[in-house]
Amino acid sequence: MKVLIIGSGGREHALVWAIQKNRNNLVQLYCAPGNAGIAASAELVPISVSDHPGLIRFVLEQRIDLTFVGPEAPLAAGIVDAFEAQGLAIVGPSAAAAQLEASKVFAKDFMARNNVPTAAYRVADTASEAIECLKSGEFGSSASPVVVKADGLAAGKGVVVASSHAEAERAIEDLMVNQLVGAEAAARVVLEEALSGTEVSLLLFADGKDYVLMPAARDHKRVGENDTGPNTGGMGSITDASILGFADLNRVVEQIVEPTLAGSAREGFAFKGVLFLGLMLTDDGPKLLEYNVRFGDPEAQAILIRLQTDLVTILDAVRRGSLGSLKVEWAGGSSACVVAANRGYPGKHDSGAVIQGLDDGKLKTVQIFHSGTSISPQGEILATGGRVLGVTSAAPTLSGALGNCYVALEQIHWPGMQFRRDIGRTRPN
Ligand code: AMP
Repeated sequence: MKVLIIGSGGREHALVWAIQKNRNNLVQLYCAPGNAGIAASAELVPISVSDHPGLIRFVLEQRIDLTFVGPEAPLAAGIVDAFEAQGLAIVGPSAAAAQLEASKVFAKDFMARNNVPTAAYRVADTASEAIECLKSGEFGSSASPVVVKADGLAAGKGVVVASSHAEAERAIEDLMVNQLVGAEAAARVVLEEALSGTEVSLLLFADGKDYVLMPAARDHKRVGENDTGPNTGGMGSITDASILGFADLNRVVEQIVEPTLAGSAREGFAFKGVLFLGLMLTDDGPKLLEYNVRFGDPEAQAILIRLQTDLVTILDAVRRGSLGSLKVEWAGGSSACVVAANRGYPGKHDSGAVIQGLDDGKLKTVQIFHSGTSISPQGEILATGGRVLGVTSAAPTLSGALGNCYVALEQIHWPGMQFRRDIGRTRPN
């Protein structure tokens, strides 16, 4: 069997690893475009994730049996629809379903139509309309916090949690007038009530009818310890039973998961693929902050390391609509992924240093998922990207998993390596 994974980050390395773990030599793996770590397990295909015709040509020529898409941009651009129009097997949401992530306005209106609990919101088409809306008092006094979100995909840079209306006005100007995330992504903005509570990520596989929940995860978005400094793509993640208790989980399933899946089917875009719910556990119960229509990175690493069922079997069941008859098993206990990044990330960062210690014998209790790496002409592994490695471990306890990651990180080094030493210990909000 031939399987193609589309993407190039730590998430895609974890997907490749999870497939190989159970299928061994029975599956021939390809990754477009992949990275240096993925190259050890899959054949790299130098085609960009946005080159849908090129990817389709490759799949037809190589007779690939199944394709899975890591990142959101090709999903929003309709890669699943394009593959399916050619009769090719691909797992993921249609462009219509991917709107749940690609448009915050679409997502919020969908939540409202389907009674999914979420923060109160308003949509504005111009900066002056947004500022008028702030002044109307609907979002409290000028000293109240308020959240400003660009409508479209903005690589994590389109959301500002403003601590006052003055700060929100600056964010509106930056997004809509100065076009910091581009003209298209911020052609509209959502203003939102600021919620407080504990954030949780809950992911699930859905096949249009049935769904399978994954272990709840928490990620750490800020670059600095104690959740300080700018937001990043994610500096670490954990899974642990304490993240989402039984009562809250039941409420999330009843009030958010099931209405979302039923609503998507009723509205004509039955969700198929991996759905990510970004939740806030508030005093008024769980509320949905956002949908993603794919695995998060680094949540994928911490989740997939606990997956015991063959991933290809699950993906195939998602595509065929047979998840209801599949038992998906997870290792008990907990897991952690600690990201090692280059100095300067998430801003302008170092690049190109040789990574030492990757073959150390002490790395047996972890999996090292590569994000931004490449291979030098001499065969050395270079730290080229912002986020470079995701050191990941599963263990009976969270402290055991974190301990394994930090012991491994002591063995790995390159000039300019940075990582947070408090993953899983602080609770971001
Ligand atoms: P989103 O892309 O909508 O999840 O927003 C990114 C991050 O902004 C979330 O992970 C939260 O930390 C924060 N955030 C988003 N919406 C809200 C809200 N209504 N209240 C408080 N924080 C929020």
